Formats: sequence, C-alpha cells, structure tokens
Amino acid sequence: MSSKLALLGGPKAVTSEPNDLFTWPIITAEDEAAVLDVLRRGAMSGMDVTKAFEADYAKWQGRMYALGFSSGTAALQSAMYGCKVGVGDEIIAPSLTYWASALQAFSLGATIVFADVEEESLDIDATDVERKITDRTKAIMVVHYVGYPADMDAIMKVADKHNVPVIEDVSHAHGGLYKGKRVGNFGKVAAFSLMSGKSLPIGEAGMLLTDDREVYERAIAFGHYSRFNEEIETDYLREYIGLPLGGYKYRMHQMSAAVGRVQLRRYPERMKEIDDAMNYFWDCLEGTPGIRSHRPPKSENSTMAGWYAARGKYVPEELGGLSLTRFCRAVSAEGCGISPGANKPLHLHPLLNTCDVYGHGKPTRIANTDRDVRQPPGSLPVTERMIKRLYSIPWFKKNRHEAIDEYAEAVKKVCRYHAELLADDRGDPEDVGNWHFFQHT
Ligand SMILES: *Cc1c(COP(=O)(O)O)cnc(C)c1O
Repeated sequence: MSSKLALLGGPKAVTSEPNDLFTWPIITAEDEAAVLDVLRRGAMSGMDVTKAFEADYAKWQGRMYALGFSSGTAALQSAMYGCKVGVGDEIIAPSLTYWASALQAFSLGATIVFADVEEESLDIDATDVERKITDRTKAIMVVHYVGYPADMDAIMKVADKHNVPVIEDVSHAHGGLYKGKRVGNFGKVAAFSLMSGKSLPIGEAGMLLTDDREVYERAIAFGHYSRFNEEIETDYLREYIGLPLGGYKYRMHQMSAAVGRVQLRRYPERMKEIDDAMNYFWDCLEGTPGIRSHRPPKSENSTMAGWYAARGKYVPEELGGLSLTRFCRAVSAEGCGISPGANKPLHLHPLLNTCDVYGHGKPTRIANTDRDVRQPPGSLPVTERMIKRLYSIPWFKKNRHEAIDEYAEAVKKVCRYHAELLADDRGDPEDVGNWHFFQHT
C-alpha cells in the first residue's frame, strides 16, 4: 500500500487555491492615489505628508513624538544616539534577532553584549540582562521577536534598578499588546521598521517614537538636517543647528509616507483578521505531538498583533527524533510551505568576532573597550538550542477556516505518519537559519 504522505507519493493535504490568502502588502486604489498625489506634486523629498504621517502614528501609538526615517535601521541607530550611546559604551541586545537591532552600535563607537533569550517567548531574558549590565551599559535593546511581546515588567524592573534606558525594536510587533498596553510604549524610545515585508508595510521606511524631548531632538540632530533648526529646544544642541551631527540623511521618502497614512488607517482591521487567522491555525494544532505554538497565553491580554515572520517550535523527541529538516520537507510536500530556522544568532558571525570594520587594527567588537566582550559558541545556551527547533509557519492574511484547516491538516498528517519518515532521515545540517533571513521578494 502506498503512503498517505505526499513526500512519499500520497495525495497532498492542501488542495485549495490560496488566492489572496497570503497576499502582502495589500495595495488598493487608495494607496495608488496617495502616491500619485505625491508624484504629481513633485513632493517626493518634501515633508508635509511625512509630518502628517508622524502625527497619525504618534496618536495611534499614544506617544508624544514620532520621527519618520528612511529605514528601521536608521531609526534604531538614531534611537541609540538619542540614548547617548557612544565611544566605549556597551548595549545589551538579544543575539536571536535581525542584525539591525544591534550592529549600528559599532558606527557610534560602542559595542554589543548579547543576552540570552527566554525559551517560551524567545525574547531577551531580564535575568540574563541583569547579569550582563556593567557601568558601561548605555542601553538595553528589547526586540519583541517575531511578534511575541517581551516581558516588559521584568525588563523595566532591571532597567530602572540600574538606571539604563530601554530601546524597543518593534519591527516585528506593530500594534501588539503586553498585558493590555501597546508594545513600544514601555522603553525610553521605540523604533519600527515599516519596510514592505513587515506587518505594517509602507515601502522602505522606519519610525522612532518617544515621550522624551531630548531623545527626539538628538535623533533629529543626528540625521535630519532640514529639521535641525530654530525649533530645537535642547541647549547643547542649538549651537550646531543646520548640519547633521551624524553626517547622515535619514528623512522618509514621501511616497512611503503617503502609503503609510493609508496603511495605518487600514491596519487595525487587517491586524485583527491576521490575528484571528493565525490563532485559529494554532488552535487547530493544539495538542499535536511534536508541535508547540509560539504565542502568549490568551489570558494575559498580550497579543501577537500582525504575526510578522511567526515561528513554530518543534519537539523532535515526540516524533521519534524526526529531524526538523525532514519534518519541514514533508509538511511542505503537503502544500504547506514551511522551512527550518529563524535569524541565526549574531554572536556566532565573524563580524562580531574578527572583522576590523573601521581600521582600528583590531576587531571592531573590541576596538573601543579594554575588556573582551566576545561570546564564543555555547555562551548563549537557550538561543543556540532554540534556533535548531524553530521553523516558519504560513502567514495567513485572511481568516478563511476551510483553507486554514487544510494547512493545519498538512502538519497533523505529517505528525500522525511521522514513523514512515524516519528511515530515510538524514538529519539536520549543523547550521540552520540564515544570516540574511528573512528575504522579501
Ligand atoms: C526589519 C528589521 C529591522 C530593520 O528595518 P529596515 O526597515 O529593514 O531597515 C530592524 N529590526 C528588526 C527586528 C527587523 O526585523
């Protein structure tokens, strides 16, 4: 008798056409009209639409100041500068994240000390953060990783105790809640990527949010020369008005700002539909051996919001030791495309260990410190263990249960008949994940 599994010649679990199930970003005539208006006015490098978008964003988020950027990377670097991260300083960041949560510290003369993550949330672990605080720690970078809100109560307690500012990288969690309060509203400053692959997709852009006038003005001074003008109130900055202190030009493209105003208006309803669809997918899989969801307990009033790049947690011990690689291949063969890994831990990359970026004559990681902060393999055990157990899951944009049922069945079917896959299992490659992850077409 032939196998039930598609990988071994059986029929696929997913037979329906996806149609718009995964379409992202959702672009309508509204976005097009907003962009055309900018183009026809020749206002691509102007500021009127960007300032209106900033006002919308600050209101939606519930923060005093919003500053638009050309990218999330630039917004995060400016958030670091806003917190006075400088030469010889250290920031504490998770290693399990996209590089732009941390690497910009080098350009400021600072270095990075990585803290481990919690197994449940995959977010930075407050206990390990506290262990890694020194008198040089100038900021703690918190990433609400792939949508799961970090434990802000514990993190803020440690940060406040040691008087270190928190920067929130909200690039994966726009609109998410932690115990009923918006993520991005806990730290001294928050930054968001708004590039087209994110759950609030507007083109190429970033946003910085803060209630602190000095942080806001330092971010302006660093890379927004045309706004570094007489409106600046911070005394020590006024002397330098006119030229960008960082030597950077970071303003948002107004075609992105125009799309942003439309996308932000539509975001609450789109986010809700995604959240319902993704929770339904995990509800279907609850209790399946080998499968664990990555989402906060519903009772906590904490949410995954737009579910950017959501992951599943794999437990091979419950499936006879079936490798993650073969599991993903089998589920994909059923018509539910998933792949192993997440962001590869940054501390293991040569850039964080040997590369001399700026010609200091030694690795940049230790260029401006008198202690070696490099972290060898094995130094972040939870991060290094969990990266081998994570895989992508489908990112449903529409809450269509008949379709989602088929994708959940693809996973369940592979778990049910996993024994048939053990014979030809060649195991996992040593290094799962990808430095360039996640790619966006
Ligand atoms: C995408 C991303 C960024 C960088 O944003 P860009 O807009 O691509 O520059 C920063 N941090 C995280 C966690 C991201 O996923």
